[in-house]
Amino acid sequence: MSEQSTDDSVDTRSDDSVGKVYLVGSGPGDPELLTVKARRLIDEADVVLHDKLPGPEILGEIPEAKREDVGKRADGEWTPQKYTNRRLVELAYAGNTVVRLKGGDPFVFGRGGEEMEHLAAKEIPFEVVPGISSAVAGAGVAGIPVTHRDHVSSVSFVTGHEDPTKDESATDWKALADTNGTLVVLMGVGKLPLYTETLIEAGMDPETPVTLVERATWPEMTVGTGTLETIVDVRDRVGIEPPAITIIGSVASVRETVVDFLDTQPDETAGKHAGGSTA
Ligand code: SAH
Repeated sequence: MSEQSTDDSVDTRSDDSVGKVYLVGSGPGDPELLTVKARRLIDEADVVLHDKLPGPEILGEIPEAKREDVGKRADGEWTPQKYTNRRLVELAYAGNTVVRLKGGDPFVFGRGGEEMEHLAAKEIPFEVVPGISSAVAGAGVAGIPVTHRDHVSSVSFVTGHEDPTKDESATDWKALADTNGTLVVLMGVGKLPLYTETLIEAGMDPETPVTLVERATWPEMTVGTGTLETIVDVRDRVGIEPPAITIIGSVASVRETVVDFLDTQPDETAGKHAGGSTA
């Protein structure tokens, strides 16, 4: 048997020594929003495989000796998913307890599903440890309740990564506009001009409130507010960059009614990072 792993089929394992993989959500970035279980597993792990999304505060607390970054590489390219899958298997077969740490919740646009399927195919024991997703919490800490019952009865989570003008786009923006519910777009900073325009063309009111929340719960959290028509200018003026979520719908306007009472200063005692700065 070879110790080499040239592809994703690592074939070295002995059943008595195989380790375990925990697919762990880190929450949006504030270390206090890690679950108690995530905290314990990180402390106990032999290796923590992570990308950048958990944020510097959480990653900074993990000893370098047991951290492995499988996010963006120095050359700007992403580590191929195949490598991450293979590394998880390799580490588990070597008997390690591995935490695969992902920002937010591991199964919300986090490729946790693919990794879980791969582990199962390789007969590696694993456990899913949910995290607080930025999709809900990123709005919440900015004073936006994504399902406020006076406003909506549904919320949709959408990737903004796809180009809505391309025919092969899997996202049906027209159908999303027709839900009349809240839309929360993840990975949607770059293509903001495209999908806001697509939504207006699909019949949504150009005055529909839109809020961008960058680095929610991080010390440098930033919020930009506008409408479907103005939000691109707001993004550029405020300088909103990834990671950020886009909240589209009338719930986004709730922030205005509460923001004066949202704690905007980092505070040791309550509402830490709660408000951020506003456009
Ligand atoms: N699994 C993650 C999402 C991964 S996709 C989760 O549940 O939160 C990556 C996208 O998540 C980013 O492009 C951004 O849209 C969003 N995101 C993650 N953390 C964020 C944060 N702290 N603030 C704002 N957006 C965040």
